[in-house]
Amino acid sequence: MKVPLLDLQAQLSYLEDDLIAAVTRVIKSTRYIQGPEVESLEQEIAEYSGAAYGIGVTSGTDALLVCLMGLGIGPGDKVLTSPYSFFATMGVILRLGAIPVFADIDPVSFNIDPLKIGELLAADKERKIKAIIPVHLYGQCADMAAILKLAEQYQLPVIEDAAQAIGAEYPIVQNGILEFKRAGSMGTAGCFSFFPSKNLGGIGDGGMVIAQEKAIAERLVLLRNHGAHPKYYHKMVGGNFRLDPIQAAALRVKLPYLERWHKQRAENAGCYNRLFTETGLVATQKVQLPASVFAEDLDGGNAGRNIHIYNQYVLRVERRNELIRWLVQNDIGCEIYYPVPLHKQECLGLLATETHCPEAEKAAEETLALPIYPELSSDMQLYIVEKIVQFYR
Ligand SMILES: *Cc1c(COP(=O)(O)O)cnc(C)c1O
Repeated sequence: MKVPLLDLQAQLSYLEDDLIAAVTRVIKSTRYIQGPEVESLEQEIAEYSGAAYGIGVTSGTDALLVCLMGLGIGPGDKVLTSPYSFFATMGVILRLGAIPVFADIDPVSFNIDPLKIGELLAADKERKIKAIIPVHLYGQCADMAAILKLAEQYQLPVIEDAAQAIGAEYPIVQNGILEFKRAGSMGTAGCFSFFPSKNLGGIGDGGMVIAQEKAIAERLVLLRNHGAHPKYYHKMVGGNFRLDPIQAAALRVKLPYLERWHKQRAENAGCYNRLFTETGLVATQKVQLPASVFAEDLDGGNAGRNIHIYNQYVLRVERRNELIRWLVQNDIGCEIYYPVPLHKQECLGLLATETHCPEAEKAAEETLALPIYPELSSDMQLYIVEKIVQFYR
């Protein structure tokens, strides 16, 4: 049996006609920059995520970049983030001449550890840290209650890197009442990527920022279009970060499927967890709840919440390189997210040597992502688990 890590062909079988119709609609409209498709998607994503504003941009990377530009981050500033993420999270900080500061991750959720954030902020006597970028890795929100509390204490903006987590719900207890907030809607701004492998993926690059405050949204709208208002009058230096209407139209075809896809991914994860737990051979990925929330809170009426949207399903394994060779031999797709933590990347030069993040380093050596896409069949999952069991026995 052949099981790819991701199979976009499987969803094309039921989306193709609608995608072609949507793209054709844009072509025939001759509205090739901004326009109604982009505006509608912005409203739909903002509403879906529980945010007031959506600002379509070129990619998830540019979503992060434009947010930091909007905050005025520049040379001499520091930005606190996770050492265990896709490069873009750190790349945007460096591109603005700022310095990334890394708080190590929690070993269970793989997300930034608020205790470490607290330590770094307390040690930052000169107040050089100007923003926090938590990453909702693999599709599970970082511990936002704790992060927002620290951000408030130190008066810092929080930019959520929700590139892998659109629609993920974070349980939060406010005034004794349990509520659920969606990824991206909790911080100063939240960033989504529509890279084709994300849970909501376009037919090319795309991204979006969501925000709750009008002033912030307006600033981002300016920055996305060279800081111009009106046209040819530039209040600030921005860039061309506009979302393509063809992508917006394609994403509007896919958005109505997103909840179903989340559920299918979560079912697949549950199936893996059951099968792997029986074997006791590998450590499966766990859902990590905030301290104020109990597992029982997620029963009953809250049973269907997207606590984890499983953009990736990640194991911790021993003898990883051998296992990967074995899986490839058996036509099973897999990938390491991520083999080198950000604080160890070569491009950092001397900055790299100062930081120690043992949990991120350990994760980089042990993690392995398996196929988890919605159309993955239970036969395929059985086959994958069988092959992994065979390898370890
Ligand atoms: C995908 C991703 C990005 C970048 O998104 P692009 O659309 O590829 O630019 C940023 N951060 C994280 C965590 C991602 O997974």
